[in-house]
Amino acid sequence: MSRKVRVGPYLIGGSDFIVIAGPCSVESMTQFQSTSFSVKNSGGHILRGGLYKMRTDPRSFQGLGQEAMAIVKTVKQQTGLPFVTEVSDPKQIDELQEIADIFQVGTRSMYNSSLLKELGRQRKPVILKRAFSARIDEWLLAADYIRHGGNNDVILCERGIRTFETATRNTLDLSAVPYIKQHSDLPIVVDPSHGTGIRSLIEPMAKAAAAAGADGLLLEVHPQPEKALSDGPQALTPQDFENLMRSVEKVLLAVDRKLHPAPKEYNEVPLKMVEIQPGV
Ligand code: PEP
Ligand code: MN
Repeated sequence: MSRKVRVGPYLIGGSDFIVIAGPCSVESMTQFQSTSFSVKNSGGHILRGGLYKMRTDPRSFQGLGQEAMAIVKTVKQQTGLPFVTEVSDPKQIDELQEIADIFQVGTRSMYNSSLLKELGRQRKPVILKRAFSARIDEWLLAADYIRHGGNNDVILCERGIRTFETATRNTLDLSAVPYIKQHSDLPIVVDPSHGTGIRSLIEPMAKAAAAAGADGLLLEVHPQPEKALSDGPQALTPQDFENLMRSVEKVLLAVDRKLHPAPKEYNEVPLKMVEIQPGV
């Protein structure tokens, strides 16, 4: 029996496909608002955005942290969409509780058992990314750490693993999708953004993920990818995101599924795009 995880008006792991999208990092009000409005207008279901980033280089942008709280609160209110953000330290849980509808465990934290145990004590869904060095059995054991504490609302996320191949940022292991469907009761979403690291590969892999039976996607979108403070090369523009949504929709139809419809209360006048001011 497969589990379904409720997030706001959605059931992840149900028959309908869910798309989670937003910038890698929340950078400013204008950037997050503009991204989120276009995600919603194209039919995206849940917003994403990092406040505390886990970067390989300590000199690179580490996220706005606390400063981004007000931005996220405002944009959530304006769009009505749920929000997911990464938690990398149990100490961040209390603070992020107010804005996060789902906590994300990043690839670098999958082995952090004290973080997993603490998330097991929460009553909020968790997206558990596969460590880039983890076998599927280790990934499922990490999920068990969360479930062991009584929190069964775990959504797995395949985000690519390290292999000898370096042409792509990671090797997206799409065979994990049907494997998880056959060996676990947990829903699984696919992140082709980190999985490939290359903008032009994201739409083809998103379509493949939908065809392979994934429950949804996790995608990075930025209004000006060349100016992004993190992961610009893999950020979709709002137009790329719109194109991806329309082509994923066709693949879903071919496999007798569909995008989750927008809840009635979200169907008000489409949000107007905000102009980005240079330097903001
Ligand atoms: C992210 O989703 O922004 C992220 C840091 O992902 P990962 O942990 O998969 O690298
Ligand atoms: Mn990223």
